[in-house]
Amino acid sequence: MTDTASAPEYAIEVENLQKIYAAQGKVPEKHALKGISLKIPRGSIFGLLGPNGAGKSTFINILAGLVNKTSGTARIWGLDIDEHPRQSRAAIGVVNQEIVADPFFTPIEMLDLMAGFYGVPKSERQSFEILKAVGLDDKKDAYVRQLSGGMKRRLMVAKALVHNPPVLILDEPTAGVDVELRRSLWTYVRELHARGTTIILTTHYLEEAEELCDSIAIVNHGEIVACEPTPKLLARLDYKTLVISPKQPLESVPETLRALDATIRRSGDLAITFRTSETGISRLLEQVKDAGIGIGDLVTETPDLEDVFLSLTSEPA
Ligand code: ADP
Ligand code: MG
Repeated sequence: MTDTASAPEYAIEVENLQKIYAAQGKVPEKHALKGISLKIPRGSIFGLLGPNGAGKSTFINILAGLVNKTSGTARIWGLDIDEHPRQSRAAIGVVNQEIVADPFFTPIEMLDLMAGFYGVPKSERQSFEILKAVGLDDKKDAYVRQLSGGMKRRLMVAKALVHNPPVLILDEPTAGVDVELRRSLWTYVRELHARGTTIILTTHYLEEAEELCDSIAIVNHGEIVACEPTPKLLARLDYKTLVISPKQPLESVPETLRALDATIRRSGDLAITFRTSETGISRLLEQVKDAGIGIGDLVTETPDLEDVFLSLTSEPA
């Protein structure tokens, strides 16, 4: 599929991308993307992280050719989407947020149809191999309506891969997906990445982006508010909260722990926030024990997306 373009430095390059959805009836116009510029290096696993309504799907759908941009430029695999609409789209496989699967076809038929749609010659189609890779080979002749939600999701991934694109884009692929499927999906995505596919995924879970992505762009209200290698982004969030359920309820923070960032929660739990680079948990636990507190249970809480936004807006970058 990519024989027409030699491997570019960036899988995706967008410059000042804007999208204004026109007003419809009583719904006012919506400035969904306010000038996004982004370069996604070839070979990366890139995360587009942001809350619902941030503009993630709009961005993906413009690349996929499902939404018309208002202004700006976009290149996929070095190809401008206006100048080379067909070729540029052949370089990406997109797994949409919504599951759309025609109930009257079997998985193998769907993949063959899709391959035909992309103009993949019969001799080069790998429908069965792809089904096998996503663990649906035993369902190849089942009706799609008989598949579970998780299986349909995997079929969507398979559909996006029929033309062997160098870039795979997944829009919130784990929304409404159980833990087991999430794991197997990620294992497969990592395999694809190891074989050279550039991966772009959107999510509103920091944890998910953190676990998978080597770089993360944070998008909020149609703007990129941060774009950094994952470790650098996480370094901004260099703290955790240790929450201890004491064996005997506490009324106040013991004298010896007052120097720490410690509070008593309404539940009676003791919460201590600490910098992970400065303080070890074992050291904290010793202090807690020295204060005469019996530990009934404990958990650590890590910062989430809300906290990222707070840290981005409260500290100069
Ligand atoms: P995300 O995927 O990050 O949740 P979206 O790109 O779906 O965000 O939406 C961004 C904003 O654009 C939201 O306010 C949403 O309501 C609006 N929007 C999305 N699609 C349309 C559309 N087809 N028409 C009008 N507004 C839309
Ligand atoms: Mg979305």
